[in-house]
Order: sequence, then C-alpha cells, then structure tokens
Amino acid sequence: VLNRMKLEFLNKSENESFARVAVAAFVAPLDPTVEELTEIKTAVSEAVSNAIIHAYGDQKEGFVTMECTVDQERRLMISVMDNGVGIEDISKAREPLYTSIPGEERSGMGFTVMESFMDKLEVESTPGEGTRITMIK
Ligand code: ATP
Ligand code: MG
Repeated sequence: VLNRMKLEFLNKSENESFARVAVAAFVAPLDPTVEELTEIKTAVSEAVSNAIIHAYGDQKEGFVTMECTVDQERRLMISVMDNGVGIEDISKAREPLYTSIPGEERSGMGFTVMESFMDKLEVESTPGEGTRITMIK
C-alpha cells in the first residue's frame, strides 16, 4: 500500500463533515480533479451519515470507523464500519428511493449516490452486529 489511515468517531451528526474534510485531506496528494474530489466526499458523506443515523438509533452512542487505503495503482479504498443494528435485507436497502425512515428528511438515495460516484460499492451487514461499506475508486 502507498498509504493508509483509520479514524474512529462518535455517531454525532457533526462528524459527517469531519469525515468529509479528513478524506479530502487524505486524498489530496493523489491530485484528484475537483469532480473526483466532490464525488469521493459525497460518497463518504452518505456512508458516514448512514452509520450516524441508522446504526445506533437516536439514543445510543456508538463509534463509526472510517478506513482509507491507497494502493500501488493509486486506487482508493474506503471502508465505513459500525457496530450497530445491521441491515436485514441488503438488496432492498440498496434500491433507489428505499428508506426505512420515510418522511421529509430521508430520500432513500444514499446507496444509489455511493454506487454512482464510486467504481465499486460493497455492503456487508449482519443484523445485531453491524455494517461495513466498502467503496473503491
Ligand atoms: P438518504 O440517504 O437519502 O438520506 P436513507 O439513509 O434512508 O436516505 P440509504 O442511504 O440509501 O437511504 O439507505 C437505505 C436504508 O438502508 C436506510 O433507510 C436504512 O434502513 C438502511 N441502512 C443504511 N445504512 C445503514 C447502517 N449503517 N446501519 C443500519 N441500517 C442502514
Ligand atoms: Mg442514507
């Protein structure tokens, strides 16, 4: 690997922007285009906000881990992990417009955005244990 970092933070909404800024700083030496940088930051926002909003519920505190690796081919791999409730039906959760919290705020487009902005999206989840999102670009 060329470089790797790992961050752990609480499931507070303000940590979504912390994760965005951190990943932007981490990939800066790779000289991404403005468009690539926007795509990476947006995908990270979606993955991290999911862990913050969905994994532990409103009441419980929990850690979210973000790990970023750049390999020899300058490929970027980002993992976002939580130890929360997990996802019962992953293929349903990945469908555009599906949200388990219908209403004004959620549009159910998080996974769709991650998928379109990154080259690869993998979702691993075990109900009661947690979720790991892996994205490659
Ligand atoms: P939006 O991202 O548009 O605000 P959303 O978060 O509901 O809405 P997605 O990001 O596509 O939509 O996620 C779809 C569903 O997958 C969520 O509603 C939630 O039920 C589930 N989900 C996603 N990430 C997690 C997670 N880390 N832990 C538990 N459930 C999750
Ligand atoms: Mg979401």
